[in-house]
Amino acid sequence: MSSRERVYRTEAIVLRRTDFGEADRLLTVFTPDRGKIKLIAKGARKPASRKSGHVELFSHGLFLVATGHELDIITQAETLEPYRPLREDLLRTTYAYYVAELADGFTAERDENRLVFDLLKAAFGWLCTAQDLQMAARYYELHLLGLVGFQPQLFVCSGCQKLLEPEVNYLSVADGSVLCARCGHDRPGTAELSVNALKVLRFLQTREWETCRLLKLAGTIHAEVEQATSRYITYHLERKLKSVEFLHHLRRQMAAGEREQS
Ligand SMILES: [Zn+2]
Repeated sequence: MSSRERVYRTEAIVLRRTDFGEADRLLTVFTPDRGKIKLIAKGARKPASRKSGHVELFSHGLFLVATGHELDIITQAETLEPYRPLREDLLRTTYAYYVAELADGFTAERDENRLVFDLLKAAFGWLCTAQDLQMAARYYELHLLGLVGFQPQLFVCSGCQKLLEPEVNYLSVADGSVLCARCGHDRPGTAELSVNALKVLRFLQTREWETCRLLKLAGTIHAEVEQATSRYITYHLERKLKSVEFLHHLRRQMAAGEREQS
């Protein structure tokens, strides 16, 4: 007798969805008690499937799952929160892909982490309504990194262990950390990190979203903060994310469209 349950009920957030076989879908979902798992949604691509509406990308659902030999199978699904704007607005969709891809990239299968589940749920909610999607993405990045064991050290120099002063410091791409002016300024592979960018990073790392969402940042600071987290993430993930490339492409297109209109 196997000790595994034959059927279990779980909440899940759909991170990825790919076609599987003739009519099925393979879902990568994040659950509160089982971490990231892969599930089969049988017949989900048939137009008449009652299940297909409940396994939408980025939705939060309640699934009844049967344990399979290799992959577990969804037998019943109910949507708890559809996060509809994430599938209806291309920019929000792209950010949702990014949030999902980052969670997927930084977690291993069946590694339980309820706080990541809670953060994902919250992040999809923010992305549905936030005016400043970049801010929501930065906040999510910093908090996800903390939850998966890659919290960036933003207060102490990783070279000399002294407190970072309010001056130009350095982000070390090679170490994925921040260095003080003395340790960082002539070290290869470092980039300047302004006082304001470091302040913003610290603020996002230590405050609640409800406070951070009220911040208004100049475009240059936004760009600098994004470049800093992106460098840090790429270093630790050891690869670039597909959704980031698409996001940059989309934002360039939107900026060009705005220029044409004005
Ligand atoms: Zn130092």
